[in-house]
Amino acid sequence: MQQLPIDERAFYRGVLTLLLLTAFIASATSVLHYLEPEPELMDLVVPPIAALINIGLVIWLRYRPKSILSVIYSAISVGIVALSLPAWYYSLRAFYSPDVLLVDIFPPISSLIIVLIVLVMIMLPPRRAFLLMLLAWGLNAVPILSYLIVHQDELWTPRGQEMFMSYGLVILLLLVLLPFQQRARLQIERLQNDNSHMHSLAERDALTQQYNRWGGQQLLDDFMRSESRGSIIMLDIDHFKLINDTHGHLIGDSVLKQFAARVNGALRSDGHLIRWGGEEFLVLIRGIDDRDACIVAERVRSAINGDAFPPVGKITASAGVASRRDKDNDTLEKLLARADKALYEAKLNGRDQVAYQ
Ligand code: GH3
Ligand code: MG
Ligand code: MG
Repeated sequence: MQQLPIDERAFYRGVLTLLLLTAFIASATSVLHYLEPEPELMDLVVPPIAALINIGLVIWLRYRPKSILSVIYSAISVGIVALSLPAWYYSLRAFYSPDVLLVDIFPPISSLIIVLIVLVMIMLPPRRAFLLMLLAWGLNAVPILSYLIVHQDELWTPRGQEMFMSYGLVILLLLVLLPFQQRARLQIERLQNDNSHMHSLAERDALTQQYNRWGGQQLLDDFMRSESRGSIIMLDIDHFKLINDTHGHLIGDSVLKQFAARVNGALRSDGHLIRWGGEEFLVLIRGIDDRDACIVAERVRSAINGDAFPPVGKITASAGVASRRDKDNDTLEKLLARADKALYEAKLNGRDQVAYQ
């Protein structure tokens, strides 16, 4: 099964539940009609086919969650056809047989058109929703409303009025409500976008575009909560003060940017780079032990001391590696302290090297 982002899973589950429920209702209706003494052909055909198609859609959605929009469109199309077939069939039958009244033979499905139109309104984007609402309404309402208008005696019965309300006035109300619903939907989308933009601004460092200390803290807390293996690499540029003093702070900033980009390039997608402060960076790699973490740290170190950093020339960095220890109830503070100690050792032993604690 394909994976969906977390925020889409609730929507996916909602659509799946809706389809299952529709399949169940259609199946139950089929059984009821087959138990009837004199069932109508329409009632014997439409509900079972609708149930089968819905089960097919459930299977489709289960195995291809990313096709959710196509599944929704198919389900809505099936709904429109399944409701408009009886609308036309019973209206035409009553129209051409003077002794048959529509209000007597029409099945109790007039509220389902409202449900269908509300679903279209909620699930589809504005323009499509409006067109499909019109289509669903037109296909269902035209035969029934025209019949009732021509047969006023039936219109003024309680069933006739109920059908007129369901297919006429209530749908009209929903069409008028659509812009309000869509405006609320747009506003929610805008707030969600703003929110994720603000969140990414808050957790990123403006200079290097990597995680800042706050964003990094969230990652580390999350890592410690997970109880999974993992390692951190604390990186510090060697003699950075000299770069600042020789070339000025602006060039120093440019070196920091290049440094972050180069470290990031040496990491795989499971490595998170955090600007821990000043010219000190932290790499978090989940799921790897000390040996692999030292290999990654060496790879990062070689990526730094290889090519020159224009206009400064070659620079080096030192690294302190620490891995999570499950046995002695390791905490984030202890892990960071070990990485810091290892880094201090690397500096003390001559810089441009990796040390492990
Ligand atoms: P060492 O090899 O021992 O690490 O020597 P160092 O000179 O790098 O020493 P240290 O790490 O203590 O120096 C950090 C310097 O980084 C001091 C500070 O002025 C500079 N720095 C911190 N943040 C920034 C920044 O955002 N931009 C620039 N240009 N410099 C910064
Ligand atoms: Mg330094
Ligand atoms: Mg430093």
